[in-house]
Amino acid sequence: MSWYDAIKVAGDAIEALRNAELNGLLANVRMEGAKLAEENARLREELLALKEIARLRGTMVFRDNVYWHVEEGKTQGPCCPNCWPSVGKAVRMVDRGRHGWICPVCDRYIGRPGHGGQQEDDFDSPREPIS
Ligand SMILES: [Zn+2]
Repeated sequence: MSWYDAIKVAGDAIEALRNAELNGLLANVRMEGAKLAEENARLREELLALKEIARLRGTMVFRDNVYWHVEEGKTQGPCCPNCWPSVGKAVRMVDRGRHGWICPVCDRYIGRPGHGGQQEDDFDSPREPIS
């Protein structure tokens, strides 16, 4: 029997007793159960997001001032060197011609090696996402 079913059975028994104090306590139990269910759903979503970051962590390579997603022999990117380490989002950058890329999320412009914009030396060494 699930916890939800157990509360329902207890509720039916309490209603049969017609006891106001027990009804009030059952209402509190139901409210707390709903809060726990909400928190559980939120934590499940957070866990999925962290699992995805952990999966991507092993596939991100820092090269030419940006991150590249390399998986199963395919290279995708470039991804923002600001968004990936700081918030764990592999944000695909927009190509701005031969000089560099711009991030559509944080608007950071990153110059290709040898061109303007922020260069590799402008960043700390590649960091792991903050969790
Ligand atoms: Zn960004």
